[in-house]
Amino acid sequence: MKKIIFVLLAAVSMSATAQLKVNKYHEPIKVEKKWKKYNPGEVVFHDEAPQTEGSKIYHNIIPNPTPYIQENARRVLQTLYYGPKDKNIPQLKTIDYTLVDEDGISWKDGDGDNVGVWYTTGWIEKSFQNNDTMRLDYETRGVLYHELTHAYQLDPKGCGEYGDGGENWCFIEGMADAVRLACGCFNQDFKSSDRPRGNSWREGYRVAGYFLYWLQQNKDKNFLRKFNASAAELNPWSWDKAMKHVLGDKPENGVEELWNEYQHAIGDK
Ligand SMILES: [Zn+2]
Repeated sequence: MKKIIFVLLAAVSMSATAQLKVNKYHEPIKVEKKWKKYNPGEVVFHDEAPQTEGSKIYHNIIPNPTPYIQENARRVLQTLYYGPKDKNIPQLKTIDYTLVDEDGISWKDGDGDNVGVWYTTGWIEKSFQNNDTMRLDYETRGVLYHELTHAYQLDPKGCGEYGDGGENWCFIEGMADAVRLACGCFNQDFKSSDRPRGNSWREGYRVAGYFLYWLQQNKDKNFLRKFNASAAELNPWSWDKAMKHVLGDKPENGVEELWNEYQHAIGDK
């Protein structure tokens, strides 16, 4: 009897795996062994829009949000840091995660050891338009990777403020989309329509994110970790200095030179 149950279970789990493989949405990346027991902070889940369709969809697909959010936090952490012993990792006490019925998609607030992440039920409904569970999970994880990067990434000094839309802002938002991409929740093919064509890395978000990911694929497999660490190692920080700090102090490693090389390599120029 035991044997029959085992075979049955194996068949069920194999079909689930097969389903994941044929789906166009990327499977969640593996959490490295050293991060598996890491405490990314206590998750406090709030639902401020239980009357909405989006809330019902969310709870159906993610019945247990705390481990779901913590597991995805570990994926962000391993993309930004070498290991749990890294002294630069911000130690979060709590992550308040709230479903709300407001405009927009998702955002983060709070600083220090408490952060809040907000996710809108309207976006959940939109992402579930074709009743595609995998699509909603893919989108929800992608949005989480972006917002949780803001919770754990380092903040570069001496390069202006986030609000001025300059080098600091570009680092913060570019890294958040680079981590989302590295974790598989944007299409990793540079020909994909997920990648917006841009004129400069200064456009931030995905334009900068795909550039950073390309540097990781082509120049240094630890690029994202090193680029994040550069925010603690340089003051004043700049994109140009950080590139040379990570890849070597040579003229070809200036940010404009690398951007140009990247543009040619992916066929945009
Ligand atoms: Zn952001």
